[in-house]
Order: sequence, then C-alpha cells, then structure tokens
Amino acid sequence: MASPSPLLEWLICLFGWGNSEVHLSTISKADAVRRTDAPDAIVLGAGVVGMATAYALARGGMSVMLVDKAPEPGRGTSFANGAQLSYAYTDALASPALMARLPALALALDPAFRLRPSIDPDFLHWIVAFLRNCTAAAFRENTLAGLELALESRSSLHELLARHPLEFGHTRPGKLHLYEDERSFAAAREVLLLKRRAGVVQEALTPGETVAVEPALAARGHRLVGAIHSPEEEVGDPFLFCRALLQTLREHYGLRSSFGMAVRRLELDGSKPAVVMDDGDRIEAENLVICAGVDAPDLLRGTGIKVPIWPMKGHSLTAPAGPEAPQVSITDVARKLVFCRLSGMIRVAGLADLGTRVAAVQPDRLASLVSAAKEALPDAAEYERIELSWAGLRPMTPSSLPIIRRARKGVILNVGHGALGWTYAMGAAERAARLLVEQPC
Ligand SMILES: Cc1cc2nc3c(=O)[nH]c(=O)nc-3n(C[C@H](O)[C@H](O)[C@H](O)COP(=O)(O)OP(=O)(O)OC[C@H]3O[C@@H](n4cnc5c(N)ncnc54)[C@H](O)[C@@H]3O)c2cc1C
Repeated sequence: MASPSPLLEWLICLFGWGNSEVHLSTISKADAVRRTDAPDAIVLGAGVVGMATAYALARGGMSVMLVDKAPEPGRGTSFANGAQLSYAYTDALASPALMARLPALALALDPAFRLRPSIDPDFLHWIVAFLRNCTAAAFRENTLAGLELALESRSSLHELLARHPLEFGHTRPGKLHLYEDERSFAAAREVLLLKRRAGVVQEALTPGETVAVEPALAARGHRLVGAIHSPEEEVGDPFLFCRALLQTLREHYGLRSSFGMAVRRLELDGSKPAVVMDDGDRIEAENLVICAGVDAPDLLRGTGIKVPIWPMKGHSLTAPAGPEAPQVSITDVARKLVFCRLSGMIRVAGLADLGTRVAAVQPDRLASLVSAAKEALPDAAEYERIELSWAGLRPMTPSSLPIIRRARKGVILNVGHGALGWTYAMGAAERAARLLVEQPC
C-alpha cells in the first residue's frame, strides 16, 4: 500500500486508527447515499467551489459526503457563468475608479450596474467595508492576493486534468480586454506592470495589433484606444466541469452524495459538526466545509459566525456563433461584458446588480445584456437564436477575495468567491483542505 498522505496521517492521529488500511481500502467505488456511516468530511454545496473542495479532500484521503439542495451539481451560481478561467484578470471590484463613478451608479446612469440600497444592517456593514476597500492601496493588495490564488488555481486545475482528463469544453484561447477611453487604458497599463511582476503574461496592444490578434474585431478597431492581451487565459464550462468531476469522484474516490434536499440548519456546538436536513435527518462528521456560495450568510445565521457576503446579480446568454465570432475571449471594458466561445457556441455574460436576492432571469435586464452585446460585437452571435438565458447571484465580499478560514474546530468556510469563483475554485479548495490538515490534532 502506498504511504499515507499528510492528511491521512493526520486523520490516523486524530482517530487513533493506527493502521491506514482501515481507510483507503474500504472506500466504496459506487456512490450511495448512506447517511448513517459518518464520513470524515461533509462538503455543503456542490457548485464549482464545493466540487473542487470535495476533490481536494478526497485526494487527501478523506471519505467525503457532498450535500446539495439542487438535484445535481453546478445548478447554483456556477451554472452558466461567463466561463472565463480568468487567471490574469483578478482586479478587485472596489477601486478608486469605481469610487469616482459611484454618484453615476447611484443615479442608475450606468446600464451595466445597478445598486439597490437597503437599510438592512448587513448591507450597511457590507457597503461600508466595500468603500474602505476602494483605496488605491487596498485595490492593489486585493488584486494581487486574487492573482496569487488564481495562479494556484491554474496549477491545481492542470494537475487534476493530468490525472483525470475531464470533458468540459476546456480551451486556452487567450483574452483581450478592449478599451475605448485613454484614461481607463492608462490605468489598466499600470495594473499590467504590477501583474507582470507577479509572473503574469500580459501585453498592451495598439488598435492595429489588437485586430491582428483577433481579426473579428476589424469593424470595431476604429473605436478602440487599445487592448490588454492575456494570451494564457482559459475557458471552460463550469456546469460540465461539476458533472464530470462528480462522476470522477464517485468512480475513483468513493464519494457519497445527497442531492435534492436542503440543509435546514447547522449544528456547530457539539463535539462534531452536523447538518440537519429538511427531512429531519442529521448527518455528523469530524469536519464540515461550507461551500454554500451566496446562501452562506443565511445558513450561518444563529451560529455566531458571520460572513460579509452580498449578492451581485448577473445575466448570461448562450447562442450559436455568428459570422464574426471571435476566437479569442473578449472583455468589453466599457460595457462590462465578456464573450467567449464555449463548445461551439458563444457565451456572453455581464451586468452587476447589487442587492437583489432573486436569481431568476429578469426580461428587462436580459434585454439590456443583448443590446449591449449587439452594440459591442454585432455579429459575434446569432442574437435572435439564443438557446440559453440565465441569471445568477455572485457571492461578493467587500474585498472581492473569498473567505477561506477555520470558523470552529472542524468547521471550514470556503465562500464568497464573487465574480471569480470559477477561476478561484481549485486553488481555494486546496487552501481549505490545507486548513483541515493543519488543524490541531
Ligand atoms: C453572470 C455571471 C458571470 C460570471 N462569470 C464568471 C467567470 O467568467 N469566471 C469566474 O471565475 N467566475 C464567474 N462568475 C462567478 C462564479 O460563477 C461564482 O463565483 C461561482 O459560481 C460561485 O461558486 P460557489 O460554488 O461558491 O457557489 P454556487 O455555485 O452557488 O454553489 C453553492 C451551492 O450550495 C448549495 N446550497 C446553498 N444552500 C444550501 C442548503 N441550505 N442546503 C443544501 N445546499 C445548499 C446551492 O444549491 C449551490 O449548488 C460569474 C457569475 C455570474 C452571476
């Protein structure tokens, strides 16, 4: 038998097993909902973050029970997002530039952004913390911390794919951020210098160079002042990733799962954490990792654990590629839209509506997305033949950085991945798993 991983060694020490055979050799190959045998860890939430976390724990030798209220993984905010594995673009939302635009945003003058003010104390707390993060120093620090996590994530994803080649439309088309005004392009060039020092490959391009990289932008070239090219950016379908990883976890790591029933409440004060399901069933484990995205604050209510997460709604559309569909992923900075090719289709995502808690598609906002997309790249997609319209709630923290920390012994939070959860998922999962390993024995 191979020597046990550090995580397994820690488990042996914790449970006094003494013989590692007990664990690895008894992992079941088939997935079965056997809530009665206590797993080593419960992962609550099967979005990209929860799936990646389940994998990191299972790889470390733990028996994992995955729990989600949806009938299958990836049905929450991870379902039809922008699909960008945005390893080079981790710019925090809170920034001096956003601060300068706040009056316009409050007056609803920016069609891409809506702010619904609230007197909810949680919102007031969140917005004050957000404004504190709008300084140049905080923006720089948050962006670079995001970059570090993103680069860890990229390595972890590539390692996973070397071990288990999953099918999820994964490609590396690179990305162009398009700028139409000199001021924001100059600011982007400054951030580029920071990122290059951190090891990111990025280049500032003239409009002519931009069109040479992506000829589908020829008709748009005259409106540009320049672009930032990140040739190593990747794309992949997060929902297909969740599905494929679930299958791998079942086949190779004996993952157990419970889909289709919500966790009604958490019990975190006993000797072991437990979740109580809607049917009253109680599942206990040595460890609980909470990956509940935008629902985390509600779930944690009453436990004494607070997480500053506020929803920021976005929409996406997926349509057949048009005659001028770009090969390279495109971010239209002025309209705050992303375009990419995804498994033969074009996905467009955007809009940032802060405060609404309803995830359903809003026809007026979808219409705004379509009209902005047509203005940006009129022939990129067949906008009259949209096959999927979708909306989701980004779990935003004031700093745009996720909350990955131990909240109690055996209770880890891995939540608040904001606008970049797909990008951060693999790295965040590794960090969350390490927190369990480092837990006092
Ligand atoms: C329009 C849009 C575009 C985006 N584009 C990108 C992009 O291009 N790149 C990128 O990196 N990120 C992008 N994001 C952000 C990204 O989608 C999110 O950060 C990410 O999906 C969050 O993943 P998660 O696993 O934390 O949350 P989720 O995917 O929401 O998963 C949480 C899970 O917890 C479950 N759950 C919650 N409460 C309970 C309960 N009580 N009982 C049982 N289960 C429960 C839910 O059912 C859900 O499945 C985008 C987001 C939006 C909205």
